[in-house]
Amino acid sequence: MNISILVFGRDTFLTTLPDQILDTSVFSLEINADFHQAVSNIQINPPDVILVQASLDGSIELCGWLKNQPQLSWVYCILFEDRPYELAARSQQGLEWEWETTATALRQGADAYIWQMLDETKYNKSPSVAAQHQLILSQLNVGLRKAQKYRDLMRTNDLLSAIALADSLTEISNRRALEWDLPRQIKKSRTQGGPLSLIILDVDYFKKVNDTYGHLVGDRLLQLLSQRLRHNLRSKDTPFRFGGEEFVVVLTNTTGDEAMIVAERLNRIVGEQPFAINENLTIPVTISLGVATLQPDDDNKGLSLLNRADQCLLDAKASGRNQAVSWKHSPFSHLKAVSS
Ligand code: GH3
Ligand code: MG
Ligand code: MG
Repeated sequence: MNISILVFGRDTFLTTLPDQILDTSVFSLEINADFHQAVSNIQINPPDVILVQASLDGSIELCGWLKNQPQLSWVYCILFEDRPYELAARSQQGLEWEWETTATALRQGADAYIWQMLDETKYNKSPSVAAQHQLILSQLNVGLRKAQKYRDLMRTNDLLSAIALADSLTEISNRRALEWDLPRQIKKSRTQGGPLSLIILDVDYFKKVNDTYGHLVGDRLLQLLSQRLRHNLRSKDTPFRFGGEEFVVVLTNTTGDEAMIVAERLNRIVGEQPFAINENLTIPVTISLGVATLQPDDDNKGLSLLNRADQCLLDAKASGRNQAVSWKHSPFSHLKAVSS
């Protein structure tokens, strides 16, 4: 693993650090002495560890800023005390003063606080330099352990989110994913002003498939149907398994008329080609579809939108199945138009 370190300090500060951190096979090192540039670098490419020279303008602010960023607070921040006043005071005051100063530095946002030598000219091979370098390397290790743990945690989080949002049978997104995605799509459509449509579809007489061939064949059919839906949609139009043999497709930037064309196409590509379960068994199925488009008075979660599409689906079922019905052409919309 290549470990990234950002040094917020002057070039001369670098010479006070252990040579090991210059080993490019282990560390990727960047040095910066300007507060705003450092902040922008950290935001673009967060390092694992940041080494801060206290005497540089903005040093304490940088430590504090880092700890106030929820996405960056894991970056390990080591503050190196080289301010002449603090160094001089340390040699005159007692331990209590040192503890208080250390506590203040940690409160201000540093994760570790290391005292530099009083006299920089002493940076040679003296025993105290060797001891101080050991301390720096040990603190670096603490930071690296933390960064590694954070990365592992993020990886596990991503994996768990993927598991939680995917349907285990069909491997497409599940209903929880729809409940997460639809409000976001609605918000986006409302802020950017583009249309948003939704299709809800259900396999016709699916119970018969299970009753005739068994549940495993039914399962396989649902897998093949999901694949067929996915392959016949634009990549940004996500299909979700809503439950059982029902699916929802959210169509971004799509008007009601365009969504109806998509629905009719899906109806065709499912009905025209029977599903090959195995070499000896192909099963023809049809689907019914309901189409609705986001309206200004729809709720932000998408419940009324889903409900309208579902009513159209019921209408499609009641009118003989194997067809798409849009809200515009549904008798329900007519009733609504009359009653409102
Ligand atoms: P309709 O045309 O009115 O939709 O009729 P249908 O038979 O498709 O509808 P119904 O609601 O009566 O039956 C749906 C069936 O889908 C019943 C249920 O056992 C089956 N089902 C739901 N989830 C799964 C699944 O994950 N695997 C399998 N094999 N069957 C499932
Ligand atoms: Mg059905
Ligand atoms: Mg159903």
